[in-house]
Amino acid sequence: MSHATTRPPSLDRLLDSPALRELIATHGRGDTLAAARDALAGWRAGAGDGAAFDQMRFESQCRAQLEQRAAPHLRPVFNLTGTVLHTNLGRAPMPTEAIEAVTALMGRPANLEYDLARGARGDRDDHVEGLLRELTGAEAATTVNNNAAAVLLVLAALAERKEVIVSRGELVEIGGAFRIPDIMRRANAKLVEVGTTNRTHLRDFEAAIGPRTALVMKVHASNYAIQGFTASVAMAELGALCRARGVALAEDLGSGALVDMTRFGLPAEPTPRESIAAGAQVVTFSGDKLLGGPQAGLIVGDSALIARIKRHPLKRALRLDKMTIAALEAVLRLYRDPDRLAERLPALRLLTRPRSDIQAAAERLAPLLAAALGDVATVRVLACRSQIGSGSLPVERLDSACIAIGAPAGSRRAGGLPDRLAAALRALPVPVIGRVEDGELRLDMRCLEPGAQEAAFAAQLPGLAGTLAPPR
Ligand SMILES: *Cc1c(COP(=O)(O)O)cnc(C)c1O
Repeated sequence: MSHATTRPPSLDRLLDSPALRELIATHGRGDTLAAARDALAGWRAGAGDGAAFDQMRFESQCRAQLEQRAAPHLRPVFNLTGTVLHTNLGRAPMPTEAIEAVTALMGRPANLEYDLARGARGDRDDHVEGLLRELTGAEAATTVNNNAAAVLLVLAALAERKEVIVSRGELVEIGGAFRIPDIMRRANAKLVEVGTTNRTHLRDFEAAIGPRTALVMKVHASNYAIQGFTASVAMAELGALCRARGVALAEDLGSGALVDMTRFGLPAEPTPRESIAAGAQVVTFSGDKLLGGPQAGLIVGDSALIARIKRHPLKRALRLDKMTIAALEAVLRLYRDPDRLAERLPALRLLTRPRSDIQAAAERLAPLLAAALGDVATVRVLACRSQIGSGSLPVERLDSACIAIGAPAGSRRAGGLPDRLAAALRALPVPVIGRVEDGELRLDMRCLEPGAQEAAFAAQLPGLAGTLAPPR
């Protein structure tokens, strides 16, 4: 026998309930109205089966929809991919000093382009130029939005309608459609290729320098390595040649390690200081690769050339904002005390984290993951190797440890388990990003710092098995 359906109150009455009034106060009237209409439509669609209208259920549906819509689209994740400076995951995490510097001025006016001593217009580069000069030995420095922009600006300002000589072994593609020959065209500079893919000699550069040469440019092979029968020209030799012929020498270093990385037990990477000392007149590098700061492109070198670069209209189009400058200044300050750098700068702290430490973290967390997954999966701790990332030191690997999660032998519920598990971890409140490899999901523990981060990771594991999609 059918019984009468309890009909919902009017929309106006519903919106006037305490729960909905609270939602309006938090989320606004427009969105709350839309959520209420959706929830009512959902009830109507199912009303045929005679269910009574449940106001509590209606209210929680409205709340869920509104909260989902209000959640930020850009949010923190756990980077357990094993790539420390992961471009897709925002590269270098910022140190506390940078976070505090940005927070302090985000909501208020700042002396961004204002000289407090003179009470007159200032230059936004002033906040970091002194530090960059001190840390690289260059006469002058300027900043732009990223290193790709830095290379574009240097070429546009110094080599428009002129020739730039580059070794064929260094005509790199950085990824994301940034290729040296294309950038040359965009900057209206003429690329003159010398040497061969594997071998380029000083005499190749000597022969190519002519009256139309604006620059000789060296590009650091940051994301690849040429091995075997190879030859390239050292910066010091190029420096001497360019000085003798009166041609400017530029170097794009890419990763931009500001100090000798070997002192931290990491592979050697050329520094801007070495490049300048060898005779480079302009050096470009990233702020958020090995330097460990915010996304930025840094240009250091001779004051006359930097002045020309700063005058170019593209500099205005590519300039940094105040928050980035605040973070960059704070990070550069940390470099003034290299002894404490590996402890204070997160990127370096993660890159130098001892394997034993990472292994211990993996062993602490593996049982929690095993408990959260029950008999759905097998969980074990495995030695693995992390990458530095962002095209820095491409062939080097760092010893690390991961939690490897796979299907139990003979399991009938195993179909597509690594991918289903990866999806379930990505759906957590703070998404966890790992990598699927050899039929397992692997979580490299290098970048999960002990303490608050590790606790937050562990806290969201219970109930994980229940969120897995059904086997395929
Ligand atoms: C990474 C890199 C770039 C681009 O730097 P972004 O900061 O990512 O824009 C340019 N040149 C080289 C050699 C690089 O390694």
